[in-house]
Amino acid sequence: MVSRREARLALRQQLRKGGLESPDFESACLLEHVLGASCRLMTRQQLEEPLTGEQAAALHALTRRRLAGEPLQYLLGEWEFYGLPFRVGPGVLIPRQDTETLVECALRAAEGMSAPKILDLCAGSGCIGIALAHCLPHGRVTAVEQSADALRYLQENAALNRTPLHIVKGDVLDPALAESIRGVDVIVSNPPYLTEADLAALQKEVQFEPRAALDGGQDGLLFYRELPALWQESLNPGGRLLFEIGMGQEAAVSSFLTHAGYENIESFPDLAGISRVVSGMRPAGARR
Ligand code: GLN
Repeated sequence: MVSRREARLALRQQLRKGGLESPDFESACLLEHVLGASCRLMTRQQLEEPLTGEQAAALHALTRRRLAGEPLQYLLGEWEFYGLPFRVGPGVLIPRQDTETLVECALRAAEGMSAPKILDLCAGSGCIGIALAHCLPHGRVTAVEQSADALRYLQENAALNRTPLHIVKGDVLDPALAESIRGVDVIVSNPPYLTEADLAALQKEVQFEPRAALDGGQDGLLFYRELPALWQESLNPGGRLLFEIGMGQEAAVSSFLTHAGYENIESFPDLAGISRVVSGMRPAGARR
């Protein structure tokens, strides 16, 4: 019989040997997931209690999957983004901390509006739109997503966070869909932006995530090239389109926005200092 403390130590050792970067953190997460309680809050005595047979078997299975490269977030089934919980699993992109920069920029763009209308294109798990809906209770957020797998998480996450999201299943590259949505103040999008070369050299964990959420075409810029013109008329004059971008994409994305007629192009860095968000404003009083 193994105690919780011993199980934690053994797991940490296994994960370290497996080459994982944060064995301490991950062993705590996995053990807490299996126990349904935080080890950090346990007394010494509670830590000396043995794992049940069921818990030991569950931990063993999770460890095997983690060592095979499955993302920790999929194994836990839930991950935090912008201080809120999100259900995640195979079929949906895991929320990244970098993406919180996009949420912050969108909140700034919506500042001073009493009931902003927000549109999240390529919504995935819903992390961006739901974080915005949470912060802007008087706003109205519409989320567009094409993947049936992602949509299930999106719906579940909207319910989990009690945010009344308007969810639309559709392809953001479809002009008819763009024409059907009007009067938006702020558009946010974290589209797939990896290049063909990026996709060929993906980290093991990322290979478990849906290709469709990552693949931005040969040069990674497919969505940035198409979306600005396609969705411009969905924006109110003076409204802003904000993109999350990948490293090194700022110049290209800014030029696409300029060419599509957007003004006041701005960019913002993430916490690592990498330019992560590029945005442009639909000219006020524009006929287009
Ligand atoms: N940031 C993600 C990654 O590096 C890519 C997400 C995306 O393509 N939108 O894996």
